[in-house]
Amino acid sequence: MGHLQPRTAVPSSKEDSPPNLDADVIVLGAGISGLATAAELVKQGNKVIVLEARDRTGGRIDSRAIGPQDDKAVRVDMGASFVHGKYDNPIYDLTQELGITVHYTSPEGEIRILDADGQMGEDLANRLGFNVSHTFFDASRSFAQDHDPAPTDSLASYVFAKNSPLFDGLDQETERHENDPAASKPPNARWKAKALGRSFSGWTGADLEDVALRWWGFERDTIGPDGMVTSGRYHEVVDHLAGVVTSDVGQGEIRLQERVNRVRWNSSEDVVTVSTSPVDGGHSQTGSRDYLASNVICTLPLGVLQRQSPVFEPRLPPRKQRAIRSLGYGLLSKIAIRYDKAWWKESDKTSRQVDISYWLLVHI
Ligand SMILES: Cc1cc2nc3c(=O)[nH]c(=O)nc-3n(C[C@H](O)[C@H](O)[C@H](O)COP(=O)(O)OP(=O)(O)OC[C@H]3O[C@@H](n4cnc5c(N)ncnc54)[C@H](O)[C@@H]3O)c2cc1C
Repeated sequence: MGHLQPRTAVPSSKEDSPPNLDADVIVLGAGISGLATAAELVKQGNKVIVLEARDRTGGRIDSRAIGPQDDKAVRVDMGASFVHGKYDNPIYDLTQELGITVHYTSPEGEIRILDADGQMGEDLANRLGFNVSHTFFDASRSFAQDHDPAPTDSLASYVFAKNSPLFDGLDQETERHENDPAASKPPNARWKAKALGRSFSGWTGADLEDVALRWWGFERDTIGPDGMVTSGRYHEVVDHLAGVVTSDVGQGEIRLQERVNRVRWNSSEDVVTVSTSPVDGGHSQTGSRDYLASNVICTLPLGVLQRQSPVFEPRLPPRKQRAIRSLGYGLLSKIAIRYDKAWWKESDKTSRQVDISYWLLVHI
């Protein structure tokens, strides 16, 4: 919280804390942001308490076992599964330290697309796959950075424009497709490209009409390819960080099932009081508890700050309130379906090492 000025800096050890405080720093939220922050502070000798409303750590990182809970259980990541950028990325470094394989698909990897006619011909599938990925990850990003689009221009306005690279080479493909007596007539390839392009709202987390073209590509602060963590193992990164927080050497504590309702700063004493209520089965229970600390770091998601925010006393500075109000966010959910047998043709290419098939359901 930027407006909370610590007495000096963050105290360097527990001896520096006034005796009646519960912690040097209270961290709100035990997602990866909160745990990474807390782990770093604990390593520097601070006494830290992490307060989390759910009955588990990890927040939007959520690895689970699905199917029969025996040795046939399949582990899946219902939250994050990709590591974006390989270089100078602390998450990638942690996966390597923990022995978690991150899988990369090669650009030449096979692309299979099934539509109402069954499996789409290889040429068309590869062309569509290339066009979609090139349009989103290269062409639109270069365009955004080179052309300074208006703030109101959406990503959709570029991706679905008549001359978009999404449709490159598709007229020939459409022709070839339509000359194939075994293939059905429309929807044609341009239409299918559009449908596949729409599926990228799963990547952006919002409809492409709601994503600003102007900033597309600026969100990255890592470089290198995106890879997928071995299915169901993302939580090991979270567990590792939680382990650092609560390890014997440090002075950290993670308190689950405690919803933060109020954060109050007493400026004369320079102490922050964080009030929580117990949570059971997702519902707040009666009773409350106060924690006292010199500093609070808030890692609660934007959606919570917009719709169910703890009360901040004094109120957050106008600049922060404006930022919270004016930023948007999307909704992203995953559905995992387990089959007894892989009915789709499995890849024989060693370059495609992803150990779970990812499907995109597209409205066709
Ligand atoms: C389905 C899905 C797929 C995704 N895929 C990817 C991906 O492949 N790669 C990628 O990099 N990112 C992905 N993301 C985004 C990524 O998961 C998040 O950016 C990241 O996990 C956010 O971490 P965080 O700690 O900032 O927030 P969160 O994980 O949301 O943690 C915040 C914590 O605060 C807690 N909390 C909320 N309110 C209170 C309160 N009042 N009191 C106490 N605690 C509270 C919450 O329970 C939560 O545990 C995906 C997200 C989703 C939903």
